[in-house]
Amino acid sequence: MDKWLMKGQNKEDSPKLERKRKPEKETSEASTSSIEVEYAVPIPSSSLTSVGLATSESNNPQTKKIKRLNKFNDLWLQEPNFLSWLCKDSKMKDGNDLAHCMLCSVSIIAHKSDLIRHMNSDRHKKKSLEIQNIPKISNYLPVMDLEINVRKAELKLAGALAENNIPISFSDILGPLCKEIFADSVIAKNMNLHRTKAMAIINNVLGNTFLEDIYEKLRGEKMFFSLIMDETTDQSSLKQCCFTAVVYDEKTNKVEHLFLDMVELSSGTAKGLYDCLHQMLRNKNISIENMVGFSSDTTNVMVGEHCSVFALLKKDLPHIALVKCSCHMIHLSSSKACLKLPRNVEDFFAFCWSSLQ
Ligand SMILES: [Zn+2]
Repeated sequence: MDKWLMKGQNKEDSPKLERKRKPEKETSEASTSSIEVEYAVPIPSSSLTSVGLATSESNNPQTKKIKRLNKFNDLWLQEPNFLSWLCKDSKMKDGNDLAHCMLCSVSIIAHKSDLIRHMNSDRHKKKSLEIQNIPKISNYLPVMDLEINVRKAELKLAGALAENNIPISFSDILGPLCKEIFADSVIAKNMNLHRTKAMAIINNVLGNTFLEDIYEKLRGEKMFFSLIMDETTDQSSLKQCCFTAVVYDEKTNKVEHLFLDMVELSSGTAKGLYDCLHQMLRNKNISIENMVGFSSDTTNVMVGEHCSVFALLKKDLPHIALVKCSCHMIHLSSSKACLKLPRNVEDFFAFCWSSLQ
């Protein structure tokens, strides 16, 4: 060691060469102590000598210690000898990388000679023999893949029923039909979709997921939207209110109409409807400040001048625009026009329309 320390003082010697020589010396030093170096985390401070201290003799304290940091080489992971047990340890010690033996659950200094020594140790060989008879987890993966594919098939079929307004009861026929047609398909064989399951998938899985996607879109900071609101009374005399958002989507470059919610109403007054609208947006954590337009039918409770839902909205949002529903207006004007015609003409067209449905 004295020799190369002395040579390092010679100006003719290349500094790069000096640096190269040191690890060779250190490697041999580290390898002599590497059995003690193998440890479970945390690392004893005494083992730091293996980290490559290019030290001079300890009886010369004035000599400067040069520390070389060990780095984990990713190419080791591809070597056949290390492939089955070696991985990089996420922990580090004083800037040095650590390797990890997955069989023995120990951390080893990221130095190839130490890795080889560990591989040849009795402890590691014993562990290697023990796991040879244990089946690999990859043997079970095809089963998991099949389950996932079966679930995907059930989701897609239930989604297709909902998207095309096909009665959910049709799934009682569709499921067995798929099994019969695709007799050689393992997925079709394992699929089990009837009306109860299809209804549960649509309501609890697909519906909630798609609605949450819509709400997330409207929660954007500059996602301005208009709201279409309509009230109806169902067969059980229960008042309900439906909300649809109209929004421009920059990603698809299209104006989209998104169904937001349909809620039961406790009161059909302007204040009751206004509170219902506020509550609906609040529940979904959508800011009413981003609402720039309002549309509804032309009833007084909705768009009347003094006490209506729009009048109350106008107090909160002075910039809001009102567009009365064109469909309702066409319907009203058509009805008024039809009054000038014999009644049976309107009845005839109403009959034709209902027959086409
Ligand atoms: Zn091991």
